[in-house]
Amino acid sequence: ALAASRAFATHPHLAASVEDFADAKVILKLFQDEFDVSAPETAPVFSAGSEASRNATLSINKLTGPSAWIDVYYPIMNTPLDRALQIISEDGKTVWDADLVEDGDPLDPLAAIYRDYIPTWHGLSRDGEVEGQLIYANYGRKEDYDELVAKGTNFTGKIVLTRYGANFRGLKIEGAQRLGAAGVLIYTDPRDDGSVTVENGYETYPAGPARNPTSVQRGSVQFLSLYPGDPTTPGYPAYENATRVEGENIPKIPSLPISWANAQRLLAEISHDHDARSLNGAPSWRKIRLVNHVDDKVMPIWNTMAAIPGHIKNETVLIGCHRDAWVMGAADPTSGTVSLHEVIKGFGTLLRNGWKPLRNVVIASWDAEEYGLIGSTEFAEDFAEWISENVVAYINLDVSVSGSQWSPSASPSLAHLIRQVALEIPHPTDPGKTLWDARSDNGPYAGDADLEAIEIYEKEQRAQSLSTGIYPLGSGSDYTAFLQRLGIASMDQGFAQTPSDAVYHYHSIYDSQRWQELYADPGFHRHVAVAKHLGLVALRLTDAVILPLNTSQYALELDDYLEFVLNDAPSDVAASVEFKGLRHAFKKLQHASHRLDKEKATAEKRFKELLGKLPKRGTPFNGRWWQRVLCMLKGKRDPMREFIKAAKRVQKANSKLVAFEKGFIHEDGITDREWYRHLIIAPGKWLGYGATPLPSIYDALVNEKNVTRARHEVKRVQHLLHKMADTIEP
Ligand code: GLU
Ligand code: CA
Ligand code: ZN
Ligand code: ZN
Repeated sequence: ALAASRAFATHPHLAASVEDFADAKVILKLFQDEFDVSAPETAPVFSAGSEASRNATLSINKLTGPSAWIDVYYPIMNTPLDRALQIISEDGKTVWDADLVEDGDPLDPLAAIYRDYIPTWHGLSRDGEVEGQLIYANYGRKEDYDELVAKGTNFTGKIVLTRYGANFRGLKIEGAQRLGAAGVLIYTDPRDDGSVTVENGYETYPAGPARNPTSVQRGSVQFLSLYPGDPTTPGYPAYENATRVEGENIPKIPSLPISWANAQRLLAEISHDHDARSLNGAPSWRKIRLVNHVDDKVMPIWNTMAAIPGHIKNETVLIGCHRDAWVMGAADPTSGTVSLHEVIKGFGTLLRNGWKPLRNVVIASWDAEEYGLIGSTEFAEDFAEWISENVVAYINLDVSVSGSQWSPSASPSLAHLIRQVALEIPHPTDPGKTLWDARSDNGPYAGDADLEAIEIYEKEQRAQSLSTGIYPLGSGSDYTAFLQRLGIASMDQGFAQTPSDAVYHYHSIYDSQRWQELYADPGFHRHVAVAKHLGLVALRLTDAVILPLNTSQYALELDDYLEFVLNDAPSDVAASVEFKGLRHAFKKLQHASHRLDKEKATAEKRFKELLGKLPKRGTPFNGRWWQRVLCMLKGKRDPMREFIKAAKRVQKANSKLVAFEKGFIHEDGITDREWYRHLIIAPGKWLGYGATPLPSIYDALVNEKNVTRARHEVKRVQHLLHKMADTIEP
C-alpha cells in the first residue's frame, strides 16, 4: 500500500491532464496484469458513444474472461488563467495585491517542484473581474444569508466573504448569486480546525500538525444539489459530438478560494470597532477587486474500467473510486485508489487460484470527480438502462484515510453487511479491537476547540447516525448518480478527520505523501483496513446465494426519516399536513419486507438442500444425465428440474431485493431538481454534502414552507411506497 501511494501521490493528477491520462493507463495495466487480460498492442481507449465503448459495457453479460478498457468522455471544464485579489483605495489605486500561491513545504522536495503547478482556483467557476465592498457571511449557509437579509443587508454588487465548512462550496455561491452579489471569496478559517490550532500551542504544517496559513482549498463550485456531472449535458452522456445546453449548475458570478493568511488581511478591512467575523452585514470601507480568468473548454476525461465475469450473467457488483486529484491528493483520492489497488491485487490472487465469482464484478477508476462527479455521472447517464437492469450494489471509495475515525455511510439495506464485516476485521492499530470500534476513535491532539465548529460537527454526527450507526449518503462523491438517480443500493467508507486529528489540508498542496506518512496513517494500517473491509464486502455481495441486502432495516428507518424531517419543519406548516397515510405506507412496506425476508430464507434453504443432493459430475453412467434418466424411469422427481426451480426462486428473491431501492425512484424526480429521482434520500438542497431524508417533502416543508406542495409531495411518496410494497409481495 505504501509503495502504491508513493507511486500515485508524488505527482499532480488533475482531471484531463497528461499525468491523469498516464495514471489511467497505469490502472489499465494493473487490471490487465492482475486479471490476466490479454493486452492488445495499443491500449483499448474508447471514445464514449462509439461502438467499441458501448460494446465494452454492454457485453459484460457475455464475457468469458476478464476485460479492461478506458472510456473517454468529453465534458466542459475549466483551467485557471490569471487571477487577482486586491484592495482598492478610494482614488482607484491598488493598496494590496494578494499572493494567491500556497507556500509549499520546504521539507518536501516535491512540494517545491510543484508549487503553483495547479493554481488556487475554483473548478467550474465563472470567468470575470468584479469590484465591490466586502461583506462577511459566515459559512454562507441558507440560515446565514437569511439572517443577514433580515438585518437589512444589501448584497447587490457586493463581494461576499464566506468560510469553508458546513455546506458544499458551490451552494455558498448559489446563495450569494441569488441575492445579487458580484462575486464570492471562500477562505479557510482555523476556527474550523478543531483542537489543532496555534492557540492551543501546535505548530503549523510542515513544522507541526496545525494548518499552514497559506493553504488553500481548491474545489468545484458547481451547484451540486441541482445536478452533478458535465454542466452542458444534464441527464445524458457527454459524448464528443453531444448537443450541449448552457450549464445551469454552475455559477454566474466569479469566485476564488483563499487562504487564512489572505482572509485575515481582508477581515481587517471590515472591522473598525467590531468583530469582523460577526454577522452584522457591515461592509468594508474600501472596495475589493476579484479577478478570475479561466479557460472553459471541452476536455477529455478517462474512466478506466475492468470487468470480471461471474456465473450469473445479469447481476453485477460495481466498485469505484475516483483517480483525479486537485494536486497530489495523497488523501483525496489517492488513499482510496491505494486501498482499491490492494483489493484489485486480492481479486487477482483469487482468480489465479481458480476463483470465479458468482456475480460479475466491475471496477471503475473514475475521472473528473473533483469537477463535479463527472466521470461516474457520465457513465451512469450513458448506461442507465444497463445499470438499472444489472447492477445489484455500488461500492464507493474516495478518501480512505484523512484521519482516525472510521465512518461508513450507506443505504440502510447494506448496514448489517457493513457492520458484520467490520466486526470481523481487526482494528488497524489497536490489538483486541475491531474495525467497527474505530467508529469512535479520536485523534491524538487535545485542546480547546471553537464551539460553533464543534457544535456543527457534533450535530452532523448526531443527525446522520441512525439506529445502525451507519450514516445516510448525501453527496460529494461518485455514488450519487447510482444511488440518487438510478436507485442502486450504495455504500462509502473511510477514516475521517476528527477535531483532535492533525489538520487535513483538503484540496491543497499540503495533502501530500509526506503528510499522509507522518500524520494521517503512519504505517498505512488504515489504508489496509479499508481494503480488507471493501474486499470482504465485495466478496459477500458477489458470492452469497441470497444478496445480503436487509430491506427490513431500510423500511424501519423510514419512520426515523420522517421524524428527522418533522424535527426541522416549522410546527405550523407541519401541523397543516396530514402524515397518517404516509405512516401507513411505511407500515405496509415494513410488512411486505418481512414477508420477503421469509421468502428469501426459504428460497435459500431449499436451494442449499438441493445443491447438496445434486448428482455429481462423472462418467455418463453415474453422471448427471444418467441419474436424471434413472429418476424419471423410477417415476421419481427429476433432481435437476427441482434444483432449477429452487434457483429460480432464489433469483426472484434477489431481484426483489434489488428492486427495493429502485422502488424509491420516481421518474418525475424531486420538484425543482428533477435530475435527482430518489424520493427517500438526496443531498440537502442547501447542504450538498449532507443527506436529506424524504427530500421532496423536506424541500416543500422546511425549505419552501409551502403547505400545498408538502401535501402533494406526501401523496407522491405514499403512492410510490404502496406500489413498491406490491412489487415485493410474495
Ligand atoms: N468531492 C468533490 C468536492 O467535494 C466534488 C464534489 C462535487 O463537485 O460534486 O469538492
Ligand atoms: Ca451528462
Ligand atoms: Zn475525492
Ligand atoms: Zn476532492
